[in-house]
Amino acid sequence: MGAKFGDPANPLLLSVRSGARVSMPGMMDTVLNLGLNDETVDGIIRKSGNNRFGWDSYRRFVQMYGDVVMGLKPKDKDAHDPFEEVMDKLKAEKGVKADLDLTIADLKELVSRYKQLIVRKLGKEFPSDPKEQLWGAIGAVFMSWDTARAVLYRKMNGYDDKWGTAVNVQAMVFGNRGESCATGVAFTRDPATGENLFYGEYLINAQGEDVVAGIRTPQQVTLVGSRRWAKDNNVAEEDRAKSFPSLEEYMPNAYNDLVDVYTRLEHHYKDMQDIEFTIQDQKLWMLQTRNGKRTAEAAVTIAVDMVKEKLIDKKTALLRIDPSSLDQLLHPTFDPAATRNVITKGLPASPGAGTGRVVFNADDAEDWFKRGEKVVLVRIETSPEDLKGMTAAQGILTQRGGMTSHAAVVARGMGKCCVSGCGDIEISYARKEIKFKDVLVKEGDYISLDGSTGEVMLGEVKTRPAELSGNFGIIMQWADEAKKLGVRTNADTPHDAAVARNFGAQGIGLCRTEHMFFEGDRIKAVREMILADNLEGRKIALAKLLPMQREDFYGILKAMEGYGVTIRLLDPPLHEFVPHEEESQREMANEMGISVDAVKSKVNALHEFNPMLGHRGCRLGITYPEITEMQARAIFEAACQLTKEGVDARPEVMVPLVGTVKELTSQKEIIVATAVKVMEETGVKVKYSVGTMIEVPRAAVTADEIAKEAAFFSFGTNDLTQMTFGYSRDDAGKFLPDYIAKKILPVDPFRVLDRTGVGQLIQMAVAKGRGVNAKLKVGICGEHGGEPSSVEFCHMTGLNYVSCSPFRVPIARLAAAQAALRNAAPVKKTAPLKKAVVKAAKNVMAGLAAAKEAFKNAAPVKKTTAKVAKKVVVTKPKAKPAVKKSVKKKAAAKKTVVKKAVAKKPAAKKVAIKKVAVKKTASKKASAKKK
Ligand code: PEP
Ligand code: MG
Repeated sequence: MGAKFGDPANPLLLSVRSGARVSMPGMMDTVLNLGLNDETVDGIIRKSGNNRFGWDSYRRFVQMYGDVVMGLKPKDKDAHDPFEEVMDKLKAEKGVKADLDLTIADLKELVSRYKQLIVRKLGKEFPSDPKEQLWGAIGAVFMSWDTARAVLYRKMNGYDDKWGTAVNVQAMVFGNRGESCATGVAFTRDPATGENLFYGEYLINAQGEDVVAGIRTPQQVTLVGSRRWAKDNNVAEEDRAKSFPSLEEYMPNAYNDLVDVYTRLEHHYKDMQDIEFTIQDQKLWMLQTRNGKRTAEAAVTIAVDMVKEKLIDKKTALLRIDPSSLDQLLHPTFDPAATRNVITKGLPASPGAGTGRVVFNADDAEDWFKRGEKVVLVRIETSPEDLKGMTAAQGILTQRGGMTSHAAVVARGMGKCCVSGCGDIEISYARKEIKFKDVLVKEGDYISLDGSTGEVMLGEVKTRPAELSGNFGIIMQWADEAKKLGVRTNADTPHDAAVARNFGAQGIGLCRTEHMFFEGDRIKAVREMILADNLEGRKIALAKLLPMQREDFYGILKAMEGYGVTIRLLDPPLHEFVPHEEESQREMANEMGISVDAVKSKVNALHEFNPMLGHRGCRLGITYPEITEMQARAIFEAACQLTKEGVDARPEVMVPLVGTVKELTSQKEIIVATAVKVMEETGVKVKYSVGTMIEVPRAAVTADEIAKEAAFFSFGTNDLTQMTFGYSRDDAGKFLPDYIAKKILPVDPFRVLDRTGVGQLIQMAVAKGRGVNAKLKVGICGEHGGEPSSVEFCHMTGLNYVSCSPFRVPIARLAAAQAALRNAAPVKKTAPLKKAVVKAAKNVMAGLAAAKEAFKNAAPVKKTTAKVAKKVVVTKPKAKPAVKKSVKKKAAAKKTVVKKAVAKKPAAKKVAIKKVAVKKTASKKASAKKK
């Protein structure tokens, strides 16, 4: 370039930008045009022959430097930008409206007034020494790692504050030096859908930030993209080619260079790239490349495509997808049959269906969200300050900005629906309304956004459950090939069990029976049991519950045919089943035919100061063995009935909250005796097991004693975390945010398993348990069972399975695969093979034949000790059972062919799974126990 930093004759100008290890779009600061002062500006003008460009760059620089480095910003969110105020005043004096109407002399005057503003407000001069400017900018960009928005962004994405950022200092090239200059942003593949199509936007005669800031709606880089854009926006081909040409048409040479570069970059990094470029006088300059942010749909598609293209292997593909992001693939989409009152169309910036009430700023979005409203955030353009509002919203609509604008990039990163660049609408923040022709949408009105088509619709459009795409099925199949952990589900109804099975669950790890006690009339029988003063009364009430429980277990065991179903005995304290308000107590008294006082006194008697540590779990079964007996009877009667019908029912009875082995043995006696009785009565034999939850620290510490009585352990890490930390599950929300903010804890231990403390108890319990009972099956059923880092810990600790809510099953499957790929399991002992080989080798006299024989014999041994091999074929759904819940989702339709090589396991089994509509677990009825 020949230019030199600070040289007045031929000055080199610099841009100072952040360089974090991951993309954090717009969250950190940048300083452009650095190196300008009263002397170098003349040099730039002489060199470019463009007086206006020189002074326009200088005023931009003083403003940017004054803001980013010197900290002259608006005082609060309602205050105006001090530099903008100066600019507006000058425009008013000159009687002009647009920046472009300011003359060169005006721009000079602006530079001078900006500098005076800095002295007046900050009491110091704007630095004219380029070196001082440079150090100032470097410091400021480093510091911007800690801006509130960057901190929030990292928190939302789970990025470590400790990573820090690099600072990149680059020579400036100018996209704003006339019509042969341009600047743009592109993705080597479509970041919304993953389609293998070069996807980019550019602006002629513009500078860097203009494209992402959404100030002007940009043009498309490729001709294909441009034609699609024109179609979506009803622009005739002639107009498009004349007024909005693609870069491919407008600057074909620079475009071809760009194609060469992006192809090389993608092959080099073997991942989709997000690139920034500038064209100065027809010459292409690359500013930046990094792995591009993408939706989960795009992540899955790109990973599968790149394996097919032989760019990456399956392992890389699996490791590249964030398991938690798979949740996005389960979001509902608009029902194609629903009526759509489309008022206008913008750019389909981030797919999904967003329906909610219109709000116009981030604070309102957050406040409304907190009071339970679904909102759509409507902005002229978004800035990083809008992050919290975007988080709270169901969707984001912007008037300005293209597919690479801040709104689009951030929304895609969040997996949130976004329609951007909706230029037809007029947004008034002051009047809190959107105008489109004669349609007026006011704050609080419902609108719906289709992030896949860009349509903006009035009212709430009906949604339907998401369809899982073919690529998603492929990724799941690869995940199953790689994972070592089993993945079960926590499900309390046949419907949830079916849903989870369609998501690939291999059994139920936790069936909480208390949830069933709330259904329909059951609560009456439960209350009758609680109110009963003696055993006889309780038995009468329990007899009413028995058929209902049996029906539940029948359905669940059937839905999980061939897989283990862990059914936990009643766990919550009884006071959770009785009403606490006067009105409901009166109703209960009427229903029971007793006095209100009698109800009140029973409720008072059940009161506990600390119910979580009170009369719950196996303690109930010890006080009231008849409850355990009823539940055990219901389980075995259901299992026997199913067995009679030829269904492979596999109940596993689980005793909760055990702290001493005697608690387990006392409950086990009842369970076993009941099993024997029911099997005698029905004449049917059922295979079952009895195990326990490990959720009390004492149970973990004495796991060797407990394991002698238990066929399995299931770690209830919700309670185990509660009791290990001594943090109440119900109240920790009040102080945990402070703990995390003050870095006393890295994360919420109820969300991510605490490996150091709780994890150590788990490791100890597994070692002690397996020490006395080698066949002990071990799993986890606390909320951590679907959280990727916790799943990794379970893999490393050698658990047999994790269990999580149905919608987290795909997440857990991928997390389990990633855990296996990242932490190669210890090499399996192949003793029989080794012995055979060694023996054969030693026996030289026997010669090669013996050795060969040994290998031949050893081979099947190896095969039978191999891990379970599975083959999953993903097909279209077949049938659709009834749905009860309001929020429905269609589960993955899947036909699973399970091939098991282990001799003891059942032979190859083929399960055709029905299509079911499912609900999101978030909408689940509240647990009996307060959580
Ligand atoms: C647990 O404690 O982790 C558990 C699964 O049981 P619950 O949440 O029902 O107490
Ligand atoms: Mg528990």
